[in-house]
Amino acid sequence: PEPRKPLISGNWKMHHNHFEAIQTVQKLAYRLTKDDYEAVDVSVHPPFTDLRSIQTLLQSEEIPVALGAQNCHWEEKGAFTGEVAPPMLAKLDVTYVIAGHSERRELFGETDDVVNQKVRAIVKSEMTPILCVGETLEEREAGGTEDKVSGQVRAGLAGLKAEQVGAMVIAYEPIWAIGTGRTATPDDAQATCALVRATVREVAGGDAAEAVRIQYGGSVKPGNAAELMAQPDIDGALVGGASLDADDFARIVQWR
Ligand code: PEP
Repeated sequence: PEPRKPLISGNWKMHHNHFEAIQTVQKLAYRLTKDDYEAVDVSVHPPFTDLRSIQTLLQSEEIPVALGAQNCHWEEKGAFTGEVAPPMLAKLDVTYVIAGHSERRELFGETDDVVNQKVRAIVKSEMTPILCVGETLEEREAGGTEDKVSGQVRAGLAGLKAEQVGAMVIAYEPIWAIGTGRTATPDDAQATCALVRATVREVAGGDAAEAVRIQYGGSVKPGNAAELMAQPDIDGALVGGASLDADDFARIVQWR
């Protein structure tokens, strides 16, 4: 099988208006080199209101950073006030869409079923989902990490074909490590990412399991990226806080 190309994704959450977004991407592009882009896929996931500005910038400056979104609705259109449909994102050259981030699950009530509908809608619009999974601290301490994470993976992938699963991205993000400064140890992160891959093997077969890219997320910073990326089942990172600063984010992309 072909080696998996790592993907480093910056989830900006509800930060940076479109002016700040342009500045951040300009700075990032100034830092990153051709060698970086050859070795690593890079995506930025700004708020919806920034997407058009960033699309224009990436195109006009020929910057090989992929555009990403943080969320979407599962229908293609309709009476869903305040929502954004996958085809609208595809039209803006969005490549990756995050589905089921723990903040969406916890603060906005997204169930495994809703997350699965979003994943399928993203695939249908020919974009790549980044399906987020992860356990709470309580679940970890009660020994429930494996059940929680494998259950979220199974539910998230329901109804997809093996090739579709192989082409997507799964982000393992222990909730207790998100925005807390507390990172999973490289060994713990590797163990759960290996479990994610084993679950993919069960539901979609060996080819999909070898191809699917699995990111680790949770307080990834320039100082801890290398040891996480060295793990065999970790194929990149989903970065929150440290992606807001172009220098920090570039240093993560340049962990090698
Ligand atoms: C995230 O929200 O996906 C995340 C990993 O955040 P942080 O890097 O800030 O922990």
